[in-house]
Amino acid sequence: MSTDDTEHDSDCSIVLSEVYLYLDLECSEERRSLIQKHLDECTGCLREFGIEHEVKALVGRCCGDERAPAELRDRLRLKLGQLESQTESREFLL
Ligand SMILES: [Zn+2]
Repeated sequence: MSTDDTEHDSDCSIVLSEVYLYLDLECSEERRSLIQKHLDECTGCLREFGIEHEVKALVGRCCGDERAPAELRDRLRLKLGQLESQTESREFLL
């Protein structure tokens, strides 16, 4: 299981940096399907951010007109801020 984590590490960070755009339906179709696919395969991401339930529910709505609740977006931005400060020495988030 831990090998799987390392394998996904950088990919996860990139996906998570865009996940709130996904929730807002503000990213392109292409990015959206990429993010959705990743979240589908990588529950580690969702668990780490404590958003598993919310995102699964949103994905279950098939990307209709519904947007994520503001509080979820705020929580994600906070978490992503922490993620960025953890990884600021690497530059892949730029
Ligand atoms: Zn992931």
